[in-house]
Amino acid sequence: MSSIQTIAVLGAGTMGNGIAHVCARSGFNVLLSDRHDACHDRGLAIIEKNLAREVAKGKLTQQQAEEARARITPTLDREAFSVCDLAIEAATERFEIKSELFKELDRVLRPEAILASNTSSISITKLAAQTSRPAQVIGMHFFNPVPVMQLVEVVRGLQTSQATFDTVHALSKQLGKTPVEVNDAAGFVSNRVLMPLINEAIFATMEGVATPEAIDQVFQLGMAHPMGPLTLADFIGLDVCLDIMRILVEGTGDPKYRPCPLLIRMVDAGWLGRKSGRGFYTYT
Ligand code: NAD
Repeated sequence: MSSIQTIAVLGAGTMGNGIAHVCARSGFNVLLSDRHDACHDRGLAIIEKNLAREVAKGKLTQQQAEEARARITPTLDREAFSVCDLAIEAATERFEIKSELFKELDRVLRPEAILASNTSSISITKLAAQTSRPAQVIGMHFFNPVPVMQLVEVVRGLQTSQATFDTVHALSKQLGKTPVEVNDAAGFVSNRVLMPLINEAIFATMEGVATPEAIDQVFQLGMAHPMGPLTLADFIGLDVCLDIMRILVEGTGDPKYRPCPLLIRMVDAGWLGRKSGRGFYTYT
């Protein structure tokens, strides 16, 4: 059993509301903090909808859902975090934003509290260096949708202590997830392997090796992937895919990660996938 009881979740967007949901569902008290009350309202409405869906599917009772919801308190007052044992940051993927947040969290949280980031690509080692407690900084990389997806990549920064790792590893299990240990490197494991696959599928499209539909079918029917790489790229967002390829090039210095010119052109055109209505497929 870990000593964690109260968790601060920073950011109430796609990932933050999912993380708050699973923490509350597992019995932890949650302080959810975004930049505005409107963000809290949106995040809490999604949590309520997703809890109701779990009740409808028989995964939770109505009472368990109500208790989980009651454990989540939205707040703009960061001083309130002084009661928290852990903060999980799930704010916008920009180093300046996360760096400022980590400095603030370091100031308001008790000295023994742990700071975790859900970043997909920013160095945990660099975030840890923004704080006075680098041994207590770690990556908790959840996957979307958080209440459903099983994996948490638990990312050790260079300075992360064994005690911090053990606590977060145990906590991930308490959240009903399967933690997988990963060291801090560009893209961790998930994006380091997935994004080059997507990028190569885009090269194959650009070179006319096959149509997007045919490429996706090869992966669905031949490798039993639930969706092909180009459908997945549209789902993730082509701008996000491009950003991650650039981070892989920058972080490794290896030109094998160079983004496909077709990916760059599509992002330039505003064809970002599902969210913009057009990517490798069109969406209405
Ligand atoms: P999002 O845009 O849905 O949500 C980000 C939220 O952060 C917004 O509500 C924004 O208002 C809030 N925010 C910005 N600055 C803040 C601050 N200073 N304090 C508190 N809140 C602040 O983004 P998302 O998809 O939820 O991504 C959040 C993090 O999770 C990113 O680091 C991203 O890389 C990572 N991530 C995303 C996915 C995914 O599939 N979306 C998967 C794994 C990890």
